[in-house]
Amino acid sequence: MACSENPARRADELRAEIEHHTKLYYELDAPEIEDWEFDALLVELKTIEEQHPDLQTPESPTQKVGGAPSLQFAPVEHRVPMMSLDNAFSFEELLAWGKRMERYIAGEVHFACELKIDGVAMSLLYERGVLTRAATRGDGRVGEDVTANVRTIAAIPERLHGEGVPRVVEVRGEVYMPTSEFVELNRRQEADGGRLFANPRNAGAGSLRQKDASITAGRNLAFWAYQLGAVEGGPVFRRHSDTLQAVRAWGLPVNPEVRVFDSLDAVHDFCKQWLERRHSLDYEIDGVVVKVDDLAQRRELGATSKAPRWAIAYKFPPEERTTRLQGIMVSIGRTGKATPFAQLEPVVVGGSTVGLATLHNQDMVRKKDVRPGDTVIVHKAGDVIPEVVGPVLALRPDGLEPWEFPATCPVCSGPLVRLEGESDTFCTNLDCPAQRAGRIQHFASRGAMDIEGFGEQRAHLFTREGLLSDVGDIYSLTAEKLARFEGFGELSIANLLGAIEASKTRPLPNLLIGLNIRHVGAAGAQLLARAFGHLDRLMEASVDEIASVEGIGPKIATSIHEFFASEHNREVIDKLRAAGLNFAGPPAPDHPQTLAGMSVVVTGTLEGWSREAAEEAVKARGGKAPGSVSKKTTAVVAGEAPGAAKLTKAQELGVPVLDEGAFARLLATGELPAH
Ligand code: NAD
Repeated sequence: MACSENPARRADELRAEIEHHTKLYYELDAPEIEDWEFDALLVELKTIEEQHPDLQTPESPTQKVGGAPSLQFAPVEHRVPMMSLDNAFSFEELLAWGKRMERYIAGEVHFACELKIDGVAMSLLYERGVLTRAATRGDGRVGEDVTANVRTIAAIPERLHGEGVPRVVEVRGEVYMPTSEFVELNRRQEADGGRLFANPRNAGAGSLRQKDASITAGRNLAFWAYQLGAVEGGPVFRRHSDTLQAVRAWGLPVNPEVRVFDSLDAVHDFCKQWLERRHSLDYEIDGVVVKVDDLAQRRELGATSKAPRWAIAYKFPPEERTTRLQGIMVSIGRTGKATPFAQLEPVVVGGSTVGLATLHNQDMVRKKDVRPGDTVIVHKAGDVIPEVVGPVLALRPDGLEPWEFPATCPVCSGPLVRLEGESDTFCTNLDCPAQRAGRIQHFASRGAMDIEGFGEQRAHLFTREGLLSDVGDIYSLTAEKLARFEGFGELSIANLLGAIEASKTRPLPNLLIGLNIRHVGAAGAQLLARAFGHLDRLMEASVDEIASVEGIGPKIATSIHEFFASEHNREVIDKLRAAGLNFAGPPAPDHPQTLAGMSVVVTGTLEGWSREAAEEAVKARGGKAPGSVSKKTTAVVAGEAPGAAKLTKAQELGVPVLDEGAFARLLATGELPAH
């Protein structure tokens, strides 16, 4: 943070910086800094203004709400201003606010606690129960008319129903993009070469503020209502929580996690619990909003120029932190892949302690230019694995050398090899203990043979102790062999041996996944099992025969053939055969292969099929069902709310777009409708 000696100068600097980021965030939906960094600038400015009241101006960002409304949309003057919320950045600040409320308010205080949805604030105006206008918050006084866009959001009803709908009612809430939709959108954007969105909030705001409402329609936005604005007529409410119940009864979605508490301890517990569980939801939350529930008490408390006094937003701590990079190590996986990872001075990011973070591969370390001894930024988004974003160059000590990828395996000292054109480096020694244990662990894992109780630790322990040298040895484990290990009582031995026995009947695709054949994943294993019907037939097949299976390319076919040509691998398979494992595959497909050689993209919601079922139906008839449209696409099947990018691409390439009826005919006959 730049630091000026002179508070007036620093306040000016901060205002300029804050206004720059405000514009990027609200008007362009393209922030350059993280929210917590923005909040820190605002807190610094607020502190200076509190210490030097003469420096405070009505135009200061500390006194204003949001950003200027864009000229792209018609302006809408809010009947009741849409305010911001004051923030509490720690439990202490939250409790201090709560105690203030308890002191000011005569009588008992009830607190309504709601999730703080990280989306876009929205005002919905219903007149005589009909949606007549939807507007963004804008600068709090004037927002943007986004009615056409909002009408495409399925969760927002055109008409309210039920009893007591006021003559005029403005319902406020948050439009957001579900996390699953965000992931899917970015996948589509990537496939179509479009720009990727930084997070669901920006994707949601960008999707909502589109000139062309059909783009909004393709983005599956959602909505949670949390507040009433202007109201004329209708019932008189005493509590905020009653208004939410009414809004729900009128047909608008209200978040089910709202709770009302009469003690600050309970409020604290609620916030703490959601800090831990925030990623269990299919939408992003950035905190908890705590509101005084009683509406008469609220009126008494009033508001400042920017925010009501009766509410506070407890903000979750940032999910990005800086820490020291102590070293870079290399781990060896089951395929021999050497993955560099960062050893960090432990730091709490987004509620959990991070000490290790992957650096993916050699090029990634070079690109990020992180060096042991650097101060680095660590980021954690959602449930994903923590990531090292990059070094803080200003804090780099003099003379720090770039990190060199090691030439030998840290476990077996064999050579590490990086093939021309590949991004990964491998330990090529198949006997490397790290690889062996990794292969055994993978064989026993849930997606493969699913041997319960046979995890990473046990795979490594048994390999290290010489009990297992390959996956075939798992089936020669006995109670006597296991009894010598600490912690293995009669019951745990019986459980483990029982789980091993149960794995013998797993379907052939699971066995194929478990064998660790390079490039063979779950989808490939299904195709191979279906096409060959038995492990022995696959073992005897030529490269050409394997490559003739739809969906199996020459690279995979060669890898499979090489795998079964290996003397060692055949010995392992003999052990599995002797142990009595199931080698037989599922029966051959019974659908006529009407779509052989065709590629059909499914988009939007179909009435008669889920997306997965439609794609399965295509595959079961010999076709491919990729996620994006290309020159090779035979047809696009479009249901309700299809992906706009896919339709545009289909139009550009002259690919026919089918409705559900035409899709059914295509499945049955393999014929496209005549133009
Ligand atoms: P805010 O987001 O802190 O809080 C107010 C808003 O919370 C309301 O307008 C409403 O939209 C929302 N909200 C969600 N759930 C709610 C609920 N249950 N009840 C009531 N309101 C609820 O306030 P703000 O004024 O929009 O603050 C700006 C936010 O935007 C901050 O988080 C800030 O970090 C971020 N920002 C970031 C940048 C950047 O460059 N990264 C720039 C500007 C602003």
